[in-house]
Amino acid sequence: MWIGIDDTDSPAGMCTTYIGAVLVRRLQRCGVRIVDARLVRLNPNVIHKTRGNAAVCIEAEGDAETVFALTCACVEALAECDDPRTNPGVVVSSVRPPPDFYYAALRDFCTVDEAIGVLESAGARYRGYKNRRGLIGATAAVASDFSDRTYELLAYRKRSVWGTPRQVDVKSLFRAEEMTYPHTWDTVDRENGVVVGVPHTPDPVLFGIRGESPAWVLKARSSVRSEEPACEQVYTTNQGTDAHLVPGTIGTLREGRSYLVRGTVAGTPVTGPGGHVSFLLSDGGAEVRCMAYEPTKGFRDVARRLVPDDVVAAAGSYKGGSLNLEKLGISHLADAVRIRPPVCLDCAKRMTSAGAGKGYKCRVCGERSREPEVEVLERLLRPGWYEVPPTARRHLARPLARGVSPWEQAVLQSGRECDREPRR
Ligand code: ATP
Repeated sequence: MWIGIDDTDSPAGMCTTYIGAVLVRRLQRCGVRIVDARLVRLNPNVIHKTRGNAAVCIEAEGDAETVFALTCACVEALAECDDPRTNPGVVVSSVRPPPDFYYAALRDFCTVDEAIGVLESAGARYRGYKNRRGLIGATAAVASDFSDRTYELLAYRKRSVWGTPRQVDVKSLFRAEEMTYPHTWDTVDRENGVVVGVPHTPDPVLFGIRGESPAWVLKARSSVRSEEPACEQVYTTNQGTDAHLVPGTIGTLREGRSYLVRGTVAGTPVTGPGGHVSFLLSDGGAEVRCMAYEPTKGFRDVARRLVPDDVVAAAGSYKGGSLNLEKLGISHLADAVRIRPPVCLDCAKRMTSAGAGKGYKCRVCGERSREPEVEVLERLLRPGWYEVPPTARRHLARPLARGVSPWEQAVLQSGRECDREPRR
């Protein structure tokens, strides 16, 4: 059977993955066999999310009625139900619903009624608390279908220390990453010298280690020195897979969805207030503004170095009319030129404009020239892919350490839309 839970936490505490880890242990104590524990990230643009829009699916073998009772009891005991924004959902289904609902919740927006329709069709047991919104994530979790997967080891804190500063040896985290990168990633951000895998929120998570296999995350974990965890759980996850992205066409992007689009840089990038960098990308007469926000740090230099006529593929969420960049692929670099008035051959002074369409004039000797000076500038970029640093990376975004998936490379090279799993 597939057990789904979601919407159990609040900004003040708790985490659905912690409840998943506790539930795994309670089920095992009752003789239920655990086949897999999945951490399922859903549409990162959903406004109701507490932090990372995570839901949990546990695949198990045992008596469904008992499991449903145990799961509800676990959620009722641990969820932050006093918070008005916490609306838990619990699902236990002996039939795995078709993956369409998972893809809808991953890439689009869904309603509670749609979730209930899926659950009724599957003959699932389910319980929605309060406004029942958590049924959306819980249903998507049981319907989830990972064509690509990664793993995350999550260590949880003892209850007695929740809310206090976390004791994790920073050097040991850097060592863990050095020993296992690129098979693990985002434990730390080496470029910016900061820890990424230890949260600052008052939830039970002590640290998380993301990687390519259970063996690699366990190897990295063995280097980490910290306060004694209460328990640890390795989740199978859709993190780091770009599962949220679909190939898109500029001009037809829809608010709150995430895309990979190809286009031509249509203007010189601009650094705005707050250090955010933006540029226009065009395709077929339509344009979209691409944004590299300040937290993306050095990635903004990539955006700044683009020039008009560069051909790029841009990945990110379309929000408020802009594509918020997660990754950029450069397919073609245009010649970058600087056009200036020429230097006067007689007096070596730079000429000035003689007026619109009238060429240039030397203010010293009166010499004239029609042609400007055209300087070809060295490009400080190379064709290929560039990404935001680990500190700014979205959970679902695929790190370049994992390589670029074939469909993304095809979009970059030809702009050809190619097949992904069900399109929405
Ligand atoms: P955490 O990551 O700490 O567990 P969270 O960020 O996952 O918290 P939740 O508290 O689970 O946030 O809130 C997300 C809510 O949005 C849930 O009720 C979930 O059912 C709902 N939801 C998830 N995806 C969608 C979607 N695509 N459309 C509509 N609602 C969604």
